Amino acid sequence: MSTLWVLGAGQLGAMLKQAGTPLGLDVRPVDIESNDELPLQADDIVTAEREEWPTTVATEQLATHNNFVNLATFPQLADRLTQKQWLDRLDLATAPWFPVEQDSTADYAYQTLGERVLMKRRRGGYDGKGQYWLKQAEKSEIPEDWKGQAIAEQAINFDEEVSLVGVRGKDGKKYFYPLTLNLHINGILYASISPLKRLDQYQSTAETMLGKLMDALDYVGVMAMECFRVGDELLINELAPRVHNSGHWTQAGSNVCQFENHVRAVSGLPLVEAEIKNQSMMVNLIGVNLDYQWLNIKSLELYWYKKEVRPGRKVGHLNFCSGNPTVLVNALDSLALPEPYPQAISWLKENLP
Ligand code: ATP
Ligand code: MG
Ligand code: MG
Repeated sequence: MSTLWVLGAGQLGAMLKQAGTPLGLDVRPVDIESNDELPLQADDIVTAEREEWPTTVATEQLATHNNFVNLATFPQLADRLTQKQWLDRLDLATAPWFPVEQDSTADYAYQTLGERVLMKRRRGGYDGKGQYWLKQAEKSEIPEDWKGQAIAEQAINFDEEVSLVGVRGKDGKKYFYPLTLNLHINGILYASISPLKRLDQYQSTAETMLGKLMDALDYVGVMAMECFRVGDELLINELAPRVHNSGHWTQAGSNVCQFENHVRAVSGLPLVEAEIKNQSMMVNLIGVNLDYQWLNIKSLELYWYKKEVRPGRKVGHLNFCSGNPTVLVNALDSLALPEPYPQAISWLKENLP
């Protein structure tokens, strides 16, 4: 059996490896800073857990391999400018925007997009890093180092944020998980919940949107689409050509999780419709220390990433899955986490059916 190399050795790479192991696959996440010569074989397969990467010995070797799945897609989606252009070209709804050029002015932003405008750096942003608010009331101007480096987006007064995780096989067949409801606090994902009956009415629209994009890119593997729900409309916030944090609940809540689906797809193995087990929820562990007392909590599954704990840093996540709503509420009540977690816990409780 050939080896599946993963460009990147963060938590997503580790979870791809974990999912491939029972299938008898040799999945090897690679640290992008590595200077080792990798024993790549011609029939090996290469995938990535991140959208972009610096040029290093390791990444050069992987990115020039003939079997790097979706290689051409990464630069298209990793740059918010070309990502937005793809959405416009395919007539997929997204927050109104324009590219921030050398001669762009804040006045133009206010005239075209309104009094609150969010600039996002074209590259490298995550967890809300790489954002800059322009507020007309505060007479904000565009800083010089954002010119030519960012897009400007209308502030969307959304009702809530949802995401769709889908997988597309080499034969073009696509499968989707139920929509996930997400809570971001200060631009960072704190909690997710899925499935929710009340989101069923948006499922087919969302699938059509993401499906159109995956088809246009002839994409193979898992892709995620983050959306704003505004009334009955879905506006695409952003796309991720990889497994996604808002799909982590599938590890507990589905017979085939997003990581296994990605590994299956890029390896050319069969894909099937996922069986959704029960109600699931996910809580990201952000800047908090590991506490093995969590393991006393019924329905909980712990994923600890073995990263150094720093404020604002994702260091793990907790999945919960149960058919018994009381078990889930009790689990949430047992979690003693600092600010701003009480907000996330109440949000989950409010949204539990
Ligand atoms: P991720 O970690 O998901 O990759 P990111 O840093 O790439 O995040 P976005 O997903 O674009 O950034 O934005 C992060 C969050 O900021 C969104 O989930 C949403 O809560 C908020 N946000 C983004 N764009 C807008 C907008 N146009 N109007 C209002 N809020 C927004
Ligand atoms: Mg992003
Ligand atoms: Mg996002």
